[in-house]
Amino acid sequence: MGMRGREGEAAGASLEEVQEVHAILLRTYDVDKTEMYDDPPLDSLVRTILSQNTNDRNRDKAFARLKEQWGLWDEVADAPYEAVAEAIRSSNHAPTKAGRIQAILRQLREEQGGRATLDFLREMSTEDASAYLLSMEGVGKKTAACVLMFSLDRPVMPVDTHIHRVAQRLAWIGPKVGKDAAHDLLAEIVPPEMRAKLHINFWEHGRVVCRPIPKCAMCTIYRYCRYDAKTAPEPTEEEARERLQEVKDVQLAF
Ligand code: SF4
Repeated sequence: MGMRGREGEAAGASLEEVQEVHAILLRTYDVDKTEMYDDPPLDSLVRTILSQNTNDRNRDKAFARLKEQWGLWDEVADAPYEAVAEAIRSSNHAPTKAGRIQAILRQLREEQGGRATLDFLREMSTEDASAYLLSMEGVGKKTAACVLMFSLDRPVMPVDTHIHRVAQRLAWIGPKVGKDAAHDLLAEIVPPEMRAKLHINFWEHGRVVCRPIPKCAMCTIYRYCRYDAKTAPEPTEEEARERLQEVKDVQLAF
């Protein structure tokens, strides 16, 4: 057992608990993100930059417009900045993202002998590929981990707002641990082969159930949670799944 509840710094969960939570979430959610696994690493990086501070739909719209309008990343690098910002308008902070994406594309082209690509990451160790990505302007731990996980199939677990919130409420990380530090702490307790699936299922759990004001009546991992302000008495896993299904059915009806 880890050092649960200590002044916010230490990660804490036994392997058994991690395995149980993982198994329950696999039964609960069935999220298909396979389209993201086929991305070449540079597509994955651009897609992840576009996803910052926006939802998946707006990210996908912006990504599709870039691809439709230019086709090749080298063409995006050379396109007028205003045109790139306009193409990705559906994604929040489009001007900042356009500048960031073009700077990365130009940097890569210069370093890689005239072609913007990140394919060389496939040949690198996870540590070296991560260090390379983190050396790029505007690429932080989460973005680097998304490229490594989705595109390169490496055993890392990106930590975004949803993953961070769920991990804190389970007390797998302490209350004062930030997202960057959470990457390393979660890597200590989540076995490599579980990280990608757990990322996707924590993400879904945080998006649908363990929201800022959580819907604890629909929570299948309630008994592992140490959050003080739960919003309902403990449901059985069956009850929680039924309630969750009702919400999904209503969403599908619209
Ligand atoms: S019980 Fe509530 S706060 Fe805890 S993990 Fe479940 S939804 Fe989140």
